[in-house]
Amino acid sequence: MTDFDVIIIGAGAAGLMCAIEAGKRGRRVLIMESNDTVAGKIRISGGGRCNFTNKDSSAANFLSKNPRFCLSALKRYRPQNFIKLVEKYDIAYHEKKLGQLFCDGKSHQIIDMLLKECDAAGVVIQTSQSVEDVEKQENGFRLLTAYETFTCASLVIASGGKSIPKMGATGFGYDLARQFGHTIIKPEPALVPLTFQNIQLEKLKSLAGVSTDAVVSLGKTSFAEALLFTHRGLSGPAILQISSYWTAGDEVQINLSPNRDMLDFLKEQRTTQPKQELHNILTQRFARRLAQFICDEVAWADGWRTCPTRNLSWWRTLSITGASAPTAPKVSEPQKSPAAVSIPVKYHPKHLKAQKPLACISLAKWSMSPDNWAAIISNGPGHPAMLPGNMSK
Ligand SMILES: Cc1cc2nc3c(=O)[nH]c(=O)nc-3n(C[C@H](O)[C@H](O)[C@H](O)COP(=O)(O)OP(=O)(O)OC[C@H]3O[C@@H](n4cnc5c(N)ncnc54)[C@H](O)[C@@H]3O)c2cc1C
Repeated sequence: MTDFDVIIIGAGAAGLMCAIEAGKRGRRVLIMESNDTVAGKIRISGGGRCNFTNKDSSAANFLSKNPRFCLSALKRYRPQNFIKLVEKYDIAYHEKKLGQLFCDGKSHQIIDMLLKECDAAGVVIQTSQSVEDVEKQENGFRLLTAYETFTCASLVIASGGKSIPKMGATGFGYDLARQFGHTIIKPEPALVPLTFQNIQLEKLKSLAGVSTDAVVSLGKTSFAEALLFTHRGLSGPAILQISSYWTAGDEVQINLSPNRDMLDFLKEQRTTQPKQELHNILTQRFARRLAQFICDEVAWADGWRTCPTRNLSWWRTLSITGASAPTAPKVSEPQKSPAAVSIPVKYHPKHLKAQKPLACISLAKWSMSPDNWAAIISNGPGHPAMLPGNMSK
């Protein structure tokens, strides 16, 4: 039986930070980690460069049923505190955009820094120690692994969420919280790609790998960042952000032309380059594959209008409208019912050149209903090479 003041289950970002602070207060701290290395998720974070903080982050950036929940913690430990720590260890970093700070080098620099801080605070770390059971005792807790028993006065559950089971993520923390009488708010995926199935996916496949700037909105919430088409659906920062607000059945609106009015652009192009094909015009604004895709899909939008299906509902406001008179063209508005598809097409794109209609591709109201959060939950991106040996003291 081994006794500590504090035992922390999980050597991820939360467990390591908690251990450092408890150790600094003179507590005898043990971290128990079931993997054979620590901080696996930090290692893969930020594409391997660890987006370690956001200098503008505040309580407003945290989603919670109780928005005040994080206030006091964030007031006492600000992004600047962590930045100071990073600078103390001479870890070079840069701001990518919107206040996001990344290591110039690799994520392991952050892990090494946290391990050094743990060491300085006298924290003991044991890897390959999976806590299997916890019992409440009169003066604290008793923890059982397959072979040993540990006791402590204070117990911290920092065993992480369920994302990326390949890296050892389980619902252990939730089960333990339930065991001690806590109510669990149903966990939902956050910051994940969105996926499509069947017909939508089939169409989008040709765009896999194409990235473009977009404003992605759900209700009153919008994010203006990059959008990436993938072989499963949509990803990129704008989609990852909106995914945290999305629940099944919700429609997401995508403005693929956030910085410039498409109608003005097309009008201008019609005047300056009247002989240009539409897809060539669009390549000035979009990657060639996306430009071609827009033309191809709009080309048979009329068929969708007469033959709507539920699966096509997310296309209904990608519209091309035209009028031969110089009046403002109609841009279709998204409709609430997912069953109806209405794409007003007065002029087929192939007629654009011949009849020179006033054409408008309404990319500002692209609306869709994803099928799911990406399978990242079950098939995450995998994990990088593990550190050799156990980290123990
Ligand atoms: C691909 C990807 C990229 C990301 N990029 C960023 C980024 O750039 N910036 C950012 O801020 N966040 C990023 N995140 C999110 C961030 O990685 C996590 O929010 C954070 O690492 C979670 O830390 P944690 O300590 O709560 O949980 P975890 O890191 O999951 O740690 C929990 C630990 O507990 C251990 N454990 C579980 N059960 C037991 C048990 N019974 N006994 C012993 N040990 C147990 C697990 O093995 C694990 O090591 C990213 C996440 C992913 C998946």
